[in-house]
Amino acid sequence: MSTSLIAMGVAVFMVINLVVGLAALSLLFGTFETLFGKPKITLLRSSKSGNMFAFGFKWNSAKEPAALDTIRLRLFNPFGTPTQVEVSKPFEAKKSSFATEIDMGPGFIDLLGAKGFDNALIQIEVVSSKDGVVFQFDMKGPKFKKLVFDANQTVAEFVNKNNLDVKKASKSPIDIPIRSFIADTVPGRGPQLKLATNPIFAGEFAGATAGAAPAASGPAVANFKIAKVWIEPGCIVCNACEDIYKDVFEVLADTCIIRPNAPLDDGLRMQEAAEACPVEVIKYTIAG
Ligand code: SF4
Repeated sequence: MSTSLIAMGVAVFMVINLVVGLAALSLLFGTFETLFGKPKITLLRSSKSGNMFAFGFKWNSAKEPAALDTIRLRLFNPFGTPTQVEVSKPFEAKKSSFATEIDMGPGFIDLLGAKGFDNALIQIEVVSSKDGVVFQFDMKGPKFKKLVFDANQTVAEFVNKNNLDVKKASKSPIDIPIRSFIADTVPGRGPQLKLATNPIFAGEFAGATAGAAPAASGPAVANFKIAKVWIEPGCIVCNACEDIYKDVFEVLADTCIIRPNAPLDDGLRMQEAAEACPVEVIKYTIAG
C-alpha cells in the first residue's frame, strides 16, 4: 500500500471522527437544552384544601427575562357543563424561578367539579402582565386532576430542592382565609343556599337538626332517618361534607369516606352535606 493511500485513510478517519464528535456534542447540548432549559411547571401540595393552588415554576430568566405576576387556569369542556371556566389570580412579581400557593377563589372548585371533566382540556398560564409574556401548559383534565391530587411536594420542599432564594421564591403574596363554602353567605345578597347553617333559613330548620341555627321564625322541617349513605368516585377533597357533618364524613388525602358506625338519624344534616358537595358524589337513601 502506498504512503499516499495510508495518509488519505488517516485523513478520512480523522474527518469522520470530527463529524461524529461534533454531532455528539450538539446532541448532548441540545438534550440539555431540551431537558433543563425549557420552562417547567410543577404542581405542589397546598397547605390547605379547597380553593388553594400551589405550584413551582422554573425557567431560564436570563434567556427569557420577565416579571411573572399572574396565574391563570382555563377549562375547555365542550362536552360537559360548564363548557368553559377561567380563574385568574395575581401574585407578587417574580423575576426568577419560584414556588407559591394561591387562593384561586370558588371558581377553582367549579373548575375541578365540572361535569365531563375527563374529556376537558386544561390550560395553565403563568403570565407577566407587565412584560406581555405568557408561559402556557396544556393538559387533559384527568392528568391535571392527578397532578393536583397526587402532588406530594410542598412549596417549601420545592424551594429547598431547587436551591431557590426563599425570600424571592416562596413568599405567599396573598393570604386570604379559605372560603368555608357554606358559612360565607352574606345575608340578603346574591343567591342563597338553603341550608341549616345559613341564617336566612334558620327558621325553617329550627328544632329539626342539631346543626341548625337557633330558631328565628317559620315552620320547622321534620327530620328523617337515613338507610344508607355512600360516596361515589370523583371526590375533590374540598372538606365541605366533613365541616357540616363530622360524625359521618372523614376527608382523607385523596378522597372522602363514611366513618364506621356513622349515625344515620339526622337526615336533614345529611341532605345539607350532600347539597353542599360541589361534585355531587354524596348519595344516600332514606329509611322506611
Ligand atoms: S365528598 Fe364532596 S363535599 Fe365531601 S370532600 Fe368530597 S367533594 Fe367535598
